[in-house]
Amino acid sequence: MEYKSFLVKYGEIGVKGKNRYKFEDALVRQLGFALKKLDCEFNIVKEHGRIYVDMLGPYDYEDTVAALQRVFGVVSICPVIRLNDSAYETIADESVRFLKEISAGTEQSFKVFTRRIDKSYPGTSEEISASLGGVILEACPNLHVDVRNPELKFNVEIRNEGVLLYALSIPGPGGMPVGTAGKAMLLLSGGIDSPVAGYMIAKRGVYLEATYFHAPPYTSERAKQKVVDLARILARYAGPVRLHIVNFTDIQLYIYEKCPREELTIIMRRYMMRIAESIAKKNGAMALITGESIGQVASQTIPSLLSTNEVCTLPVFRPLIGFDKQEIIERAEKMDSYETSILPYEDCCTIFVAKHPVTNPELSRIKKSEERLSERIEELVETALKTEELVLCEA
Ligand code: ATP
Ligand code: MG
Repeated sequence: MEYKSFLVKYGEIGVKGKNRYKFEDALVRQLGFALKKLDCEFNIVKEHGRIYVDMLGPYDYEDTVAALQRVFGVVSICPVIRLNDSAYETIADESVRFLKEISAGTEQSFKVFTRRIDKSYPGTSEEISASLGGVILEACPNLHVDVRNPELKFNVEIRNEGVLLYALSIPGPGGMPVGTAGKAMLLLSGGIDSPVAGYMIAKRGVYLEATYFHAPPYTSERAKQKVVDLARILARYAGPVRLHIVNFTDIQLYIYEKCPREELTIIMRRYMMRIAESIAKKNGAMALITGESIGQVASQTIPSLLSTNEVCTLPVFRPLIGFDKQEIIERAEKMDSYETSILPYEDCCTIFVAKHPVTNPELSRIKKSEERLSERIEELVETALKTEELVLCEA
């Protein structure tokens, strides 16, 4: 079957009135981002509370469906035949042609589902279904009716703008279109967790920016490229991601020089949070996102989370907080970031880790240790902020 259009269905709960336009416009924009990188021409149209993707020339069906399946807010994708002529004879002829083609001569059961959105159209939905069912049965000897559990659910929608025929409904990811729920700053490392955390928050409609702390020469160019690659994987779902790359070396060395070894990780993480928050605020992001999960490592015990949280005023989203590593890995595999995440390049924490980091840091002690940094830390943070590199990561 060669389809020229896709009907994109989306959830409508909570999208009434003004929000509805915002939701639909964001969805149209995100669908555009998803399809832009495929080599095809298309037109996305909003019509009477429906969104259609019309393909204007040759295109790859599998790639197109896969791209649409990555757009948050999409509940399902139905490849459709759109008829401009709504005369009953045309609908009947096209229905027969459609079912012959998709059943390809195999024995199958079917049921017709008619929706008459154009209320001026003659007959009730039931009457139209029954009549079309009769025509189809006569023309297609391989098909039989099963009203309880049909293999082919054949949909006929009679709408003001024309008629739709479809039988396939391909699930989308659900969620909300990116751009409908404000902006957040993801602390993106080269690990497995943070890309998954970004994915989950973007799925709620949040526009993502990201910050990566690198520490050359302790972390390599390849480690940095890996983070760029992860941001590009995220961009397949979230649309283009602005990645702020912050040089963290001098701050890290200074902490290393002045503070107790076992507190290094916590103090470093506190500076990462402070800097990420400062970049977030400058760029209109109203929350931070991390890939932390309780107890995964020393810096993720509750006392550690308390002390890294303490330096922020923005809310910190930690969508993986209750997940096991295995659950996170499964999600990483599903979003296709896992293979990139496990590439073996050092990230900046692994160089400076102490053998026995504190797991139960006392906030007052940490603050006391940080006082040892008072001479130069402000200047170093300022330099790090001033020298950040911005990379636009597209799918
Ligand atoms: P991940 O797999 O996401 O790297 P992790 O298990 O290595 O996480 P940590 O190193 O404790 O855990 O980091 C916790 C969180 O802090 C990360 O999920 C990420 O959000 C943030 N983070 C850690 N290192 C960096 C970095 N170099 N740049 C930006 N964010 C970072
Ligand atoms: Mg990490």
